[in-house]
This record gives sequence, structure tokens and C-alpha cells, in this order.
Amino acid sequence: MSQGETMNDRIMIIEDEAAIREMIGYTLMKEGYQFAEAESVEAARPLIENHKPDLILMDWMLPGMSGLDYTRRLAADPGTRDIPVIMLTAKADEREKIQALDTGADDYVSKPFSSKELLARIRAVLRRRGQENAQGMIEFRGLKLDPITYRVTAGGAAVDISPTEFRLLHFFITHPERVYSRSQLLDQVWGQNVFIEERTIDVHIRRLRRTLAPHGFDSFIQTVRSVGYRFSDK
Ligand code: CA
Repeated sequence: MSQGETMNDRIMIIEDEAAIREMIGYTLMKEGYQFAEAESVEAARPLIENHKPDLILMDWMLPGMSGLDYTRRLAADPGTRDIPVIMLTAKADEREKIQALDTGADDYVSKPFSSKELLARIRAVLRRRGQENAQGMIEFRGLKLDPITYRVTAGGAAVDISPTEFRLLHFFITHPERVYSRSQLLDQVWGQNVFIEERTIDVHIRRLRRTLAPHGFDSFIQTVRSVGYRFSDK
């Protein structure tokens, strides 16, 4: 990513019009944001997957895949759905703006926009996201997960957990009392584009139980015969 003046929030710009891209880049640089630019979804995708920016400024109309379609995809993928998106749109129609929000965009800015307006939107979205993260501690019967630091404690004691086990536990703890099949867990925890055999899920479940066993929480992960798994304390 191109460096701004400080180590700050990292913003991805996807915009095919060079003049607008430059204006945004200049605005972000002056504010000390780090940023990267791309002129298409195709060019942006590896940067987004590898660097997980803190926010994406997404032009609606792009050559190839549209910004709207890409926003929808990002929102459907567990690996990227937490990245906030601000849609840049030349569309004036209210219905279309609502459509942008419906696909998973957090906000939109209508072209032409001033750098002041853009910065205000960026700050608002990042602030909102920061508040969600700060409140993001998840607890279930003394088992506590911190989605920011990936730390887990059980009755106050630290649990030594791998990132994959963490994601699996995070999904379970936020979706208790419901049975999920192996393929549903695959989609929800690993994402649809990852190739993993379903029985690999069983391996991760076993590991997660082993991790939780010393703290007495392994029984929360219940096998539902011939269906899948459920997280429950009952
Ligand atoms: Ca465009």
C-alpha cells in the first residue's frame, strides 16, 4: 500500500476515473491515511484479500465487474464482510442509493463531492466501526471472545487457541442453539471460495474441543448425529 504520512487507517480506492482517483488520493494523503488505488475490481481484489484495508471507497460504475456487484460479494464473504464500504456514485436516484446500502455498503457519497464531505463520511464510518469493535467482546457462560485481539478466556483463564479454532468458536458462540451441517459451517466460517473437504470440519471440531476441554467447555460443542454440530450449554 502507498504510505501516507502516518501509520493510520488504510483505505482502498477503487475508481476508474484517474482524475477522481488522484483527488481522493491527495485528500487522504494530506490527512495521513495510508491508501492504495485500483482502477478496477480485478486490480483491487488481490490487494483487498492480502491487506484487508480498514475501509473501501468503491466507485459504482467500473469497467468489468461493477462496484455494486463487488460490494455484494465482499458482504457475502466472511473474510471481507467486516470491511466497511463507502460507495461513490454519480446516480442521483434515491432508489439506487438505497440499493447501494442494501448490498452491504455502509454509506455512499454522490459525485461530484468535495474532499471535506468525503473525509466527513470516512470519519463517520470508521468511528462507527470502531465503536462496534470496542463493544465487540462476546460472552457465553463465562467463555469470552475478543474479536480484535483473537484472545479467548474461560472463567478468566487464558485459552490457547489457533486462528481457525477461533473463527469456528466465534461462529458457534454468535449462533448458539442451532444445528449446522458441515457444508453450512464451511460456507459460514471458511467462505464459499475455499476448497476444504467436509470431513476437515470434523478435525477442526476435535481440535476445538481439545482446546476447550481443560476449561470444561468442550461439551458445548455438540454432535448432532447425521446432521452436524450445535453450540449449546444444555
Ligand atoms: Ca466510474
